[in-house]
Amino acid sequence: MPTPHDQYVRVRGAREHNLRGVDVDVPRDALAVFTGVSGSGKSSLAFGTVYAEAQRRYFESVAPYARRLIHQVGAPKVGDISGLPPAVSLQQRRAAPTSRSSVGTLTNLSNSLRMLFSRAGDYPPGAERLDSDAFSPNTAAGACPECHGLGRVHRTTEELLVPDPSLSVREGAIAAWPGAWQGKNLRDILAALGVDVDLPWRELPAERRAWILFTDEQPVVTVHPVRDADRIQRPYQGTYMSARRYVMKTFAESKSPALRAKAERFLASAPCPLCGGGRLRPEALAVTVAGRTIAELAALPLTELAGLPDGATEAARVLTGDLRARIAPIVELGLGYLSLDRSTPTLSTGELQRLRLATQLRSGLFGVVYVLDEPSAGLHPADTEALLTMLRRLRDAGNSLFVVEHHMDVVRAADWVVDVGPLAGEHGGRVLHSGPVEALARVPGSATARFLFDRAAAPERPARRPRGEVTVGPVTRHNLRGVTARFPLGVFTAVTGVSGSGKSTLIGEITEELPGVGRLVSVDQRPIGRTPRSNLATYTGLFDVVRKVFADTDAARGLGYGVGRFSFNVAGGRCETCQGEGFVSVELLFLPSTYAPCPDCDGARYNPGTLRVTYRGRSIAEVLDLTVESAAEFFADVPAAARSLDTLLDVGLGYLRLGQPATELSGGEAQRIKLASELQRGRRGHTLYLLDEPTTGLHPADVEVLMRQLHGLVDAGHTVVVVEHDMSVVADADHVVDMGPGGGDAGGRIVAAGTPAEVARARGSATAPYLARALE
Ligand code: ADP
Ligand code: ADP
Ligand code: ZN
Ligand code: ZN
Repeated sequence: MPTPHDQYVRVRGAREHNLRGVDVDVPRDALAVFTGVSGSGKSSLAFGTVYAEAQRRYFESVAPYARRLIHQVGAPKVGDISGLPPAVSLQQRRAAPTSRSSVGTLTNLSNSLRMLFSRAGDYPPGAERLDSDAFSPNTAAGACPECHGLGRVHRTTEELLVPDPSLSVREGAIAAWPGAWQGKNLRDILAALGVDVDLPWRELPAERRAWILFTDEQPVVTVHPVRDADRIQRPYQGTYMSARRYVMKTFAESKSPALRAKAERFLASAPCPLCGGGRLRPEALAVTVAGRTIAELAALPLTELAGLPDGATEAARVLTGDLRARIAPIVELGLGYLSLDRSTPTLSTGELQRLRLATQLRSGLFGVVYVLDEPSAGLHPADTEALLTMLRRLRDAGNSLFVVEHHMDVVRAADWVVDVGPLAGEHGGRVLHSGPVEALARVPGSATARFLFDRAAAPERPARRPRGEVTVGPVTRHNLRGVTARFPLGVFTAVTGVSGSGKSTLIGEITEELPGVGRLVSVDQRPIGRTPRSNLATYTGLFDVVRKVFADTDAARGLGYGVGRFSFNVAGGRCETCQGEGFVSVELLFLPSTYAPCPDCDGARYNPGTLRVTYRGRSIAEVLDLTVESAAEFFADVPAAARSLDTLLDVGLGYLRLGQPATELSGGEAQRIKLASELQRGRRGHTLYLLDEPTTGLHPADVEVLMRQLHGLVDAGHTVVVVEHDMSVVADADHVVDMGPGGGDAGGRIVAAGTPAEVARARGSATAPYLARALE
């Protein structure tokens, strides 16, 4: 319990990851920002220490049985934390969302809307009032019985099942049938039932064809197998199954992904004939509010849903009022273009976090610490003020906010700033400053201070001239209506616009098929791998070089160890307890499973025999534990390794360890690793590089490093197109395409295009004023 007179969360001796015994006091009931270059240790402090410790205490209090498991997973490495309130994390990282989760379920707005329909909807004469469950496609009471609440049905058609009707059954007309014995069996059953299996399919009577393909009957007949040349088979009892039945059964029940995929080729997905895509029972779809069904309202952008008229009754007024109050903060955070039925897997991580944030405002929680990871990600500068307003409201309601941020406008607005550094990895891990923002100006060695107080002007460089252009469009997709865009080649282009204006939709249309593009490389923020088996070294190919180096040592030769022995992915050299993962998975009841170090190899991944082989005094496990920076020194005279390590240093990843599992890397880190492996290949010929918000997760000091690389690609004759909100990056582009003016239906147009100076003067552009300031 925090003592009432101590207003600080006091952390003592934090040693998680690279933190060097950090002592820091952060005020409660304040907006505190944690900043510093990438890899300096901000997240290790805010999430890895403060949040992890709050979680641990919470689990211990609610579930004593979890203690043993927590012990196994490991408590954060920290001496003590006092004054720590319960914590809520609104981290960006994508929880695995089920396909049925939507904006409506995530924000609880679906509940409010259902209540409104249940209590205050217009029912057909004589109809009984429905429970609010009856308006949810995710309950048995509500789901349309035909499509089970999915809104679409899978069906088979004759065209799909029989692609070539000139063939006979014996010649394989029914393409959907299984191969080998089973297929012959079905054919022989048909023959036994009196079907002419040698007639071209199209000459069979229509009724017959329909029965063969679609019947639900499963007649049993005695089959006299058609004689194969060398074998005589005995008669047997065979059961018929129609092609549709076979395809549906395989699609729904087969354990083999290949068979399921094959079955899916014979299925067409179409809107459900019963609910027309509304996903609900007919009784529920007969109820309306303001003349519309709940499915229609769920498809409206939130800005329009908020305009719902009050209704006649007191209940209707209260319920619509509640709905509107819940929508308001979401619209303020620039997300008014979303609809309730939008499924969460199609949202960006920034959109997800802001939705969670807006939802929290109505939760009425107080006395908690909210821990956020870069809430400004994906946010246009025009919407930053709304974000700050929202954060302050949560604070004023009696909460603490610990926000990891790189955006200097957010840092400037904080009540308190914790600056971690000075650099990354082992060169970071110290708190350089913990106090009010202004005082940071006097802190020597802070990379943040440089950007916070004197805006570094972009380096002057000669204007570039495009070598032609590619034309995209006309694009009609999402909120774009016949938009045509031109992207000049051989220059750096930034695509700007508020969230939801259509930037991603537009650049998604740039493909290798367009004349002039040549090779297209999309460097996105998706993970480089989904299991701890992939890591930086395996992804870049560096690990192949390293294993070869170990196999070439005298010790390895003497023992007969080849390169395979040094792989942790195959049996031989790896630790078998964890099968080379270094970790074992620990299942925590009702929590996502987590990893704990392997009890046998203690995280080394290899068996003792392999670990006895050393190169310059280090085992392969010790090499995987080196940071890129130390490895670059260690392998300086191994050219193949040095080349790949140098490009990783160039994109600012010197602080990562070679064996750091893909699952521990942020989206920005994954993106920079991909960029580095691209750079390392140094392909010839023109390439168009496409990057969606490459500065996410980057401190301005890291942005400088990254931009040097991207402009280097342009100077080498390539084309770079980025979607970007960071105005320092946009100001330094050769060409800008500004989308907007708003989000969703209020956007989807090109508002302005030209040099940064031209776009900065454009009227009606939400970007112009911010770009103008960055150009000053
Ligand atoms: P920041 O949030 O400032 O970008 P982090 O706290 O994520 O930095 O990382 C600080 C250091 O700790 C980096 O050197 C990083 O490589 C390392 N690190 C991060 N996560 C882990 C982990 N799960 N295990 C080991 N080291 C880690
Ligand atoms: P931006 O990249 O500028 O944030 P997007 O291109 O992602 O904008 O979105 C433009 C519009 O298209 C928005 O109204 C958004 O809701 C809609 N949209 C984007 N992706 C999808 C999707 N997968 N399904 C339906 N609508 C989408
Ligand atoms: Zn249906
Ligand atoms: Zn092991």
